[in-house]
Amino acid sequence: MGMFDTIHLKEPLICPDCGTKVSSIQTKHFDSCMADFKIGSVLSGSPVLIGIVKETLWCNACYKAGKQPAESPVYLVIWHSLLAGVEQDLAKAEARLAAVDRLDLISWLDEAQREAGRWARSYHKLFSDVSRWHEHLTRPPEPETTGPDAERQRTFRRFFSLPDEILTAADPLAAILAANKQKGDGADD
Ligand SMILES: [Zn+2]
Repeated sequence: MGMFDTIHLKEPLICPDCGTKVSSIQTKHFDSCMADFKIGSVLSGSPVLIGIVKETLWCNACYKAGKQPAESPVYLVIWHSLLAGVEQDLAKAEARLAAVDRLDLISWLDEAQREAGRWARSYHKLFSDVSRWHEHLTRPPEPETTGPDAERQRTFRRFFSLPDEILTAADPLAAILAANKQKGDGADD
């Protein structure tokens, strides 16, 4: 079985045969290395720098219903190796290609930076939780503090340790994984 790349669409396409929404397209036109693309992505390995590539819309609903999906074209609009649009109508694809401008670039850049920021924050949170769990497992037991500073020191330690709901969970590592599970794309915090 060959590899492919997947294009994810915020605005789903509609199967012309059954009306089902199709929100992703698999394609072998580019590097075919299981990459995920969306509008605004650089299409690594695109043999086309500027132009329109014809792909076929695959409708799973038609396939499951035993219907051989009719040949249903999808046009990938490529502008300087960027995926600028996905259209089911060639005239619309041509219009899209002609209309790409600097505001499109700014909005794609903005989205890419937000997404990079989300991933960086997610990574640092997960790394911090796992590090604190590792410290918790390997740290020698603290001598019980007494004296006037005891409460302050305990508060200080609690501040840097994992929350109690994780430390007291039946499976703390599972609790860390659950707390750090990626929400769907577009979760903008
Ligand atoms: Zn269909």
